[in-house]
This record gives sequence, C-alpha cells and structure tokens, in this order.
Amino acid sequence: MEINVHFACTCGAFVEENIYVSEENLATDTTPCNSWKVLICDGCAKDYEAAIISTQNELDVSIDGAVSLEYEVVDNHEYDEISWTIESTQQLETYTKISRDVVLLLQLKIPDEAKNTLYNMLYAQVVTVVEAYLSGIFIHTVINSDDLIRKLVESDPELAKKQFSLNEIFSKWNELKFIVAKHLKDIIFHDLKKIKPMYFSVLEIDFGDIGWLFKAVLIRHDCVHRNGVDKEGNPTGIDESMIIDLIKNCASLVAAIDEQIQFRNLT
Ligand SMILES: [Zn+2]
Repeated sequence: MEINVHFACTCGAFVEENIYVSEENLATDTTPCNSWKVLICDGCAKDYEAAIISTQNELDVSIDGAVSLEYEVVDNHEYDEISWTIESTQQLETYTKISRDVVLLLQLKIPDEAKNTLYNMLYAQVVTVVEAYLSGIFIHTVINSDDLIRKLVESDPELAKKQFSLNEIFSKWNELKFIVAKHLKDIIFHDLKKIKPMYFSVLEIDFGDIGWLFKAVLIRHDCVHRNGVDKEGNPTGIDESMIIDLIKNCASLVAAIDEQIQFRNLT
C-alpha cells in the first residue's frame, strides 16, 4: 500500500513523500500492526519518524514534531500490480500459453470479411505478450537480486540521478526496490527501445538486431489505436504469414533470454 504523507517541518520547509507499506505490515485480523519509516526534511536534514499503525479497518500515521500532518492512501492498484510483477514466476508459461492460443485461433474458420479484424487483434496480442515477457522477467530477475539492483542503479542514468541518502538506503531497502520496479515498469511501458541496452548492461544479454520488434510495436499501435490503419489511412496489411513470422521471431528471442537466465541461475 502506498501512502502520500505531507507536513511542515519546524524549519518551515514542506515535506512530502510517498511511503510504501508492505503486506506484512498491514493488519489482517484484530491485532494492530505497526511499522516505522524515517522521513527527512530537505530543508534542514532533520529526520522524522513516521509510525504507521494499521488496524483491520483503518490506517493511521503519526509523526512526532510534524506540523499540519496530512496523509492519504494512494493508488493501491498500482502497488498491487507492481508487487505482482516482482513476485510472479509465470512469465515464460504465460508467454508460451498465449502464443499457442494465437496459433490455434489462426486455424479457426472465419468469414473472409472478418479476417482483417482478427489478424489485427492477434498481431497486437503477440506484441503485447512478448512485451509483457520482456518487462516481467527483467523486473522479476533484477528486483529479486540485490547485486542486479545495484548494477541497474549504476547503469541507469535516470536512476543514478535520483539521490538517495545513506539513511534512506538503510531504512528503505524494500521501498527502494519498489521505486526501482515502478521506474522500470514506467519506462518499459513507454519506450521498449530502452529495454535492449538495459538487458545488455544489467543482465549481459544481447538481443542482437531487433528492428523487427520495433517495427511490430509500431504496427501494433496502428492496430490498437487506429483500428488497423496507419496515419494516412492505409490498412496494416497483416496476414497470417506476418503473424506466424512474428511469433517465430518472438519465440527465438524469448528462448534465448530464458536460456541465459536459467543457465546463469539469475532467478
Ligand atoms: Zn526542516
């Protein structure tokens, strides 16, 4: 669960931070569950100890010395989603299952006039499932290894830019993991191109030439956001063989990544 906390420091500066409370710190029965976080004022470096008290129906935050303290629970959905990505081990199974389904669906006898729509849907599905695999296995592998997180933070200019104080690193290791996972999910979601150098610098896995995948991502955009035509109104022209080629290319990419991850015992 994520809580947005804001208050004024005695120095006059405004302190605002999102804190993450893990499942084990949330009460599931009548026994209250307490956890603590250290928040640091940017203005004067004073540290504040926030006590988070979870009861079955309520969550309270109290901070000694904080002026005008306010807090609210934010975006549970995103937290659940990211926690799920970190913990899930089903990436390969899901990928394989969906790819097989697409092949089966291609064998269906359907009316000719509906074929374009089905092909657009299936093409988009193949891109989505390979993207989910690439981001899911990367996040799962990296976030569950302290060494790989370090490697990622050192090699990612955006993460390296974020200044974490020593205090924060010690008091918030779990939260840091979550922040890093969220960052990964955001950038991978917005820009698949960044994933290739990341795999290389953090996992030492080289994708080789994946121009075909970037092209497929653009075509998927036309399928999903323009109902199967490009900006000029030309149809995507997706046919059965384009889908099969895409599935084959994705399958060899996924197999190569999986082999590396298994072989080097990364998970
Ligand atoms: Zn202050």
